[in-house]
Amino acid sequence: MSDSAKAPPIYVTQPLLPPLEEFIPYLQQIWDSKWLTNNGPFHQQLEHALCDYLGVKHVALLTNGTVALITALQTLRITGEVITTPYSFVATAHSLLWNGIKPVFVDIDPLTLNLDPARIEAAITSQTTAILPVHCYGHPCDVARIAKIADKHGLKVIYDAAHAFGVRDQKGSVLNHGDLSVLSFHATKVFNTFEGGAIVCHDAETKQRVDHLKNFGFVDEETIVAPGINGKMSEFNAALGLLQLNYIDRALARRGEIDRDYRRRLANVAGIRCLADAGETAPNHSYFPILVEDDYPIARDALYTRLKDNGIHPRRYFHPLISDFPMYRGLPSAQQSNLPVATDTAQRVLCLPLYPALEDRQVETITRLIANP
Ligand SMILES: *Cc1c(COP(=O)(O)O)cnc(C)c1O
Repeated sequence: MSDSAKAPPIYVTQPLLPPLEEFIPYLQQIWDSKWLTNNGPFHQQLEHALCDYLGVKHVALLTNGTVALITALQTLRITGEVITTPYSFVATAHSLLWNGIKPVFVDIDPLTLNLDPARIEAAITSQTTAILPVHCYGHPCDVARIAKIADKHGLKVIYDAAHAFGVRDQKGSVLNHGDLSVLSFHATKVFNTFEGGAIVCHDAETKQRVDHLKNFGFVDEETIVAPGINGKMSEFNAALGLLQLNYIDRALARRGEIDRDYRRRLANVAGIRCLADAGETAPNHSYFPILVEDDYPIARDALYTRLKDNGIHPRRYFHPLISDFPMYRGLPSAQQSNLPVATDTAQRVLCLPLYPALEDRQVETITRLIANP
């Protein structure tokens, strides 16, 4: 066996974990106070720390990104039909079904792979109440055009910003666009609390509605204003987030180095296209997608298998499209003829390993295999 065959497998991501000994004092504090959940001190501290770090007005922490999406839709009382992208993680559309809302899929832009604003208006009906776009791979959507369409038609905009932690554009945090933005702090994301999520809102009243909804709808001991869910983040997860914030800038810087290294090494590989950024001033390099074009010698799935045979485990994010899963494919908007760009992209994309602990020589190995199929 060659050296590379014996090397441990390289997965698409590896969670950011601060040194364990630094977590012990946080645990001690939880054990001493016996305040385990329900808006405890770490929960409050992390909400404030994230407002400062991200440059946003209000952050409400939740148990995970999916419950945050479901709760965000309830916060704005969204009903009827919502326009969204088929090119995302399945939780984006699931959050609509959990609220009895009909997803309407609109195709993506071939360069950014975000919801194509030029196709949104044609999908609006009298039932449409909102748009749910995704900042795919952390690249900002065309927020100005989406805002214009939403204003014209009286629609709300909720951004699924699960990939967009820390991303800024000319105007500051990308999370300040739309009515609400939803973050995920799942283990696989740039910033993690093992499991976790958040809703970013722009005013105190909306934040208060989220806080009621994530706590069964309780306003006080005797008053319930809505059939809310249990979506509260525990003190354990909030403490992890606080500790993790001390390491996030270094992690993002290292992600940037790896991103540049990949781009440099793949620049002259015919048939491999790296996705350009979408105008962000502070990217977060949350993923490294490549598109396998027609002039590459082998198909995407053959490249995927070749990398796996060499101990490298990229992921086909996002294949299959959400619109191809059984609970969605019967919808008129889910037909492949309505989604040609997303359908084609799902056949070509491969997300390469990208995480702070990935070593330069591993990037070299991966790109060498891609350059010599
Ligand atoms: C991860 C992710 C989610 C779901 O977040 P969880 O915290 O895992 O529930 C939703 N949307 C997108 C685009 C994601 O990548």
